[in-house]
Amino acid sequence: MKLWSQTYIPTLKESPAEAEIASHQLLLRAGLVRKLGGGIYTYLPLGLRVLEKIKQICREAMEAGGAIEVLMPHLHPVEFWQKGPRWDAVREVMFNAGSASAGAKPTADFQFVLGPTHEEVITPLVASELNSYRDLPRNFFQIQTKFRNEIRPRFGLMRAREFVMKDGYSFDATDEAANESYRKMEAAYRRFFAGCGLRYIAVEADTGVMGGAFSHEFMVPAEIGDDDVVYCDASGYAANREKATSGLVPADLADAALEGSLEEFATPGVTTIAALEKAPYAVPAAKQFKTLLYVGDGKLFAVVLRGEDELEEAKLGSLGFQLFRAATPEEIVPVMGAKPGSLGVVRGTIADEKALAGVFVDHAVRLIGNGVTGANKDGFHLRNVNVVRDLAVTRFGDFRRVRAGEPCPRSGQPLQIARGIEVGHVFKLGTKYSEKFGAYYTDDKKEKHPMVMGCYGIGISRTFQAVIEQGHDADGIVWPWSVAPYHVLVCVLDPQLPAAMETVQRIATVAEKAGADVLVDDRAERPGVKFKDADLIGIPLRLTVSRRGLDEGVVELKWRSEKQFVKVPLAELDATLAAAVARGAASIQG
Ligand code: ATP
Ligand code: MG
Repeated sequence: MKLWSQTYIPTLKESPAEAEIASHQLLLRAGLVRKLGGGIYTYLPLGLRVLEKIKQICREAMEAGGAIEVLMPHLHPVEFWQKGPRWDAVREVMFNAGSASAGAKPTADFQFVLGPTHEEVITPLVASELNSYRDLPRNFFQIQTKFRNEIRPRFGLMRAREFVMKDGYSFDATDEAANESYRKMEAAYRRFFAGCGLRYIAVEADTGVMGGAFSHEFMVPAEIGDDDVVYCDASGYAANREKATSGLVPADLADAALEGSLEEFATPGVTTIAALEKAPYAVPAAKQFKTLLYVGDGKLFAVVLRGEDELEEAKLGSLGFQLFRAATPEEIVPVMGAKPGSLGVVRGTIADEKALAGVFVDHAVRLIGNGVTGANKDGFHLRNVNVVRDLAVTRFGDFRRVRAGEPCPRSGQPLQIARGIEVGHVFKLGTKYSEKFGAYYTDDKKEKHPMVMGCYGIGISRTFQAVIEQGHDADGIVWPWSVAPYHVLVCVLDPQLPAAMETVQRIATVAEKAGADVLVDDRAERPGVKFKDADLIGIPLRLTVSRRGLDEGVVELKWRSEKQFVKVPLAELDATLAAAVARGAASIQG
C-alpha cells in the first residue's frame, strides 16, 4: 500500500487555462502530468503508474502475438534516414540532434536526428542479422519515446512532440506469410485496446507517405478526435475519411451523350464556383468542373472534381509523388495560360500541355456528363464540355471527400461520419524498405528475395489520454480497472485514531492479497476535500474508514462509477472486499 502523504499527487481545483479538452484538464487537475513546453510533459507518480500499466498490457499482447521485444536507439545517424525511401517527406518532422544551430530544421550538414519512428533502424539491423528463409518469420517490437516536431502540438499527450509509442516490425518470406503476421498483430491490437478498457473501432486507412499495401487504424470515437471515420452500421464498412469511398458513382454508369458543341462564353470577373452559379450564368455547381493545380516532386499536375465536391488531399498520395502541395498562380499561369478561376483541362486549351505531369479526374466527374469549365483564358468559360469527348484525362481515380448520407460502397445505405482519435495503426509495408536496405533472404533453392514487411504502431501516451477522454464525468476521471494507477483508495478520515489505521492495514492486506494496488489517503484534510480528490483521481473502488463508522461497526464501500455507497459490517469486510476486487478485475476483457 502507498500512503498519499508519501507520494506526490498535486491535485488542482481549477483547470489551467491552457487545457481545452476534458482529458487534458483532468491530466493536469488529477496531478498526472505537468507541462515543460509545448507538447513536452513530465509524468508525475500517478501518471507514471498509468503509463507503466498500459505499457505492460501492450507488452503482453505483443508477446502473445509472437513479437519479440528489443530497444533501439533514440539517436540516429542521419545517413540511415537519407538512405531510406521517405527522407524528403519525413525530415520536416524530425528534430535535429547534431547541428551547431539548436532547433534548426534537418539539413544536409547535420549528423544525428531524434527518432520519430524506426523503419530506418530496424531494417538495416535485420538485413545484417537474418539471411535465410529458416530465420523467418520474425517480428520485433519496442516501447520507446519518439520525437516529432509536430506543427501544432495540442491537447496534452494527444499530439505531443515527445511521446511514448509501441512500434513493431514484421519480416516474412512471402506475401501470404506477411498477411498472416498482419492478422496476428491486428488480433493483438484488439486484445490490447480491449485490455485497456477502451471502446474502439478498426477502420481502413490511407497508406500515405509510408506507401504500404494496406492498413488499418484503431480509432477511439470522440468528439475531439483529429480524424473523421466514415462508417455504415448495416455493412460494417468503416474507413478513415482520407481513404473512404462511397457508392455515389454506379459501377455501370454509361458515358453521357453529347449535348452540343463546345462554346466559349465571357464570364468577366467570375473566378469561383459560387459566382458561376448566380445569374446571369446560373450554372449549378453539380454541372461545373473544378480544376485544381498541384506540384508533385517539382512537377505541375491537375486534379479535376465536380464543382460541389471537395478534394481529399490525402488521396493524392496514391499518385506516387513523395511530396505534393497546391501550386501558386506564378507556377500555374505559364503552363495553363490563365489564373485560377478560369482553369480547365479541355484538350487543346492548355497553353503548355506537355508541362503537365498528368490530369487526374475524379470518378464523380463522370456524373456531370456535359458541363462548364474554365477556358484557360482569364474571364472566359466553356459550355457543353463532355467528359469523354473533351477532357485531357491521364486517368480517373478517387480524389473527392466523401460526405455523410452518400451510399455505403457495400450496402448502399447512407454513410455516417463520426470523429475519432487514432490510437494505433497496422501497415502491410511490402518490400519497399527491405529493398532499400538490403534485407534479403535466400530460399531453399538458394535464390534471394526481399523480405516482406509490416509495421505496427500504438500511441501509448495517446492511449493513456484517450482512456480519460472516454472515461470521465463532471467530477473527474473514471478509470477502467486495468489501467487505474491504484485499484483501491482507502480514505481514512481520522488517521490519528489507532483503530482506524488498523482497519486500513486490514483492508490493504486483504485487497493486495486479492491482487489490487492500494492507495491510502492519510492526509489531515476535511472529508469534503478527500472525497472531491477521490472523485477527481478516479480510483475504481473507494473505502472510507472513519471514527463514526467504526463506532457503528462499518466501513463504507463505493464504486467510482456508481452513485451509492454501501455500509459493510466489519465482520463481513474481508469477504466483501475480496469479492469487490474480483469483480473489478473481471470488468475488463482483454
Ligand atoms: P497522426 O495522424 O495522429 O499524426 P501518425 O499517422 O503520424 O498519427 P504513426 O506514425 O502511425 O502516426 O504512429 C503510430 C501511433 O503513434 C499513432 O497511431 C498515434 O497513436 C501515435 N502518435 C503519432 N503521433 C503522435 C503524437 N504527435 N503524439 C502522440 N501520439 C502520437
Ligand atoms: Mg503524424
